[in-house]
Amino acid sequence: MTGQHRIVVLGAGYAGLAAARRLARTSRDTTITVVDSRAEFVERVRLHQEAAGQRIKRWELRKLLERKGAEFVQARVSGLDPVTKQVHLEELAGSPEGAGRRPSNIGEWSLAYDTLVYALGSAADRSGAPGVAEYARSVATPEDVRALPEGRVIVVGSGSTGIELAAELAESQSYSAVTLVGADEPGAWLSTRAVESIRATLTRLGVEIRSSAKVVEVLPTGVRLADDTVIEAESVVWTAGFTVPDLARSAGLAVDDHGRIRTDATLRSISHPDIYAAGDAALIAGPGDRPLRMACATAIPAGGYVARAIVARAKGDEPEPMNFRYQLQCLSLGRRDAVIQVLNADDTPGARVIRGRTGALVKELIVRGAGMTVGLR
Ligand SMILES: Cc1cc2nc3c(=O)[nH]c(=O)nc-3n(C[C@H](O)[C@H](O)[C@H](O)COP(=O)(O)OP(=O)(O)OC[C@H]3O[C@@H](n4cnc5c(N)ncnc54)[C@H](O)[C@@H]3O)c2cc1C
Repeated sequence: MTGQHRIVVLGAGYAGLAAARRLARTSRDTTITVVDSRAEFVERVRLHQEAAGQRIKRWELRKLLERKGAEFVQARVSGLDPVTKQVHLEELAGSPEGAGRRPSNIGEWSLAYDTLVYALGSAADRSGAPGVAEYARSVATPEDVRALPEGRVIVVGSGSTGIELAAELAESQSYSAVTLVGADEPGAWLSTRAVESIRATLTRLGVEIRSSAKVVEVLPTGVRLADDTVIEAESVVWTAGFTVPDLARSAGLAVDDHGRIRTDATLRSISHPDIYAAGDAALIAGPGDRPLRMACATAIPAGGYVARAIVARAKGDEPEPMNFRYQLQCLSLGRRDAVIQVLNADDTPGARVIRGRTGALVKELIVRGAGMTVGLR
């Protein structure tokens, strides 16, 4: 025990880094320890680019964090005990962590906290249909992404990730056919103008769009649809759904059906107020009490807010509730096109849409800006 307040941040994605960086800058008499199983930060919002064969940059987490004044522990979080306020860690092969903290049971050790920031993000949900776990690829985490074999590719899911991936794969011209399969029209939640623009660009890039199509099974050689049609392909990429780690649920925290931590207006767990949550693993109420999206656009402000709330409480002040609204929703459509949907205050799509090269430039600047906010450049 140092006598200092111990803040432990679980996860060094966008939310965890945003929180740790601000905490290191603004909190006094605290130690800040960030735990992540990865040694490097990878811009998750560029994983579709990597899947299409582009090289994306990586940043050493230890360097990023230590130069900001936070400690970094590379380990897998295997459990959480909110009663004794301990995080259980598993050493990773080749990771030198744990010296001085490691108990006698070799290979496992624990970290004590006074305040915990839970920002463990999300991964691909592979339970969506039979065969997904066995035969489908995904692009949800850096570990998922590997070059796809040449030939035909089916992208399942017409949400943002599926649209961005299909466009990127088609633009790379490495595949003989790219088919985007989904229950809805790609971008259906956006304005008519944005939907038309997405369809026009995907079609121009050569993507075959199969909307109103439900995939019921992934096969070694393609997918089977609800109407029993089989579409054949050399690879299938599943983008239809994300899942969050089960640690919060297993530890007895109040979570929603997906396992996301239920938070109050200041992003504290409603069941364990010394635990804050941010990013994909947190359930945060947004406009009209709808949950905020699983997005980098949520994770960064939420991580920054959590840090401000912790610092305010340490000074004896009650933080203002998180006040956040989305301004834009941005979808890249390859490297030379994009759709930037301007949003109304209630999060509904507005009339304005920025498209084409200007859209692509805006999206690129936003992705770089997100990186800068968490200290990447
Ligand atoms: C291809 C793609 C494109 C996207 N594009 C956009 C976009 O344009 N705009 C947008 O807003 N959002 C986008 N997103 C979503 C965005 O990437 C996520 O919402 C965001 O990364 C969530 O941040 P996070 O910090 O909550 O989690 P993550 O970024 O997932 O970080 C969580 C961290 O926790 C670590 N971790 C998890 N479990 C453990 C464990 N047990 N032990 C130790 N460490 C652990 C992980 O290693 C990871 O570093 C995209 C996602 C994908 C996949």
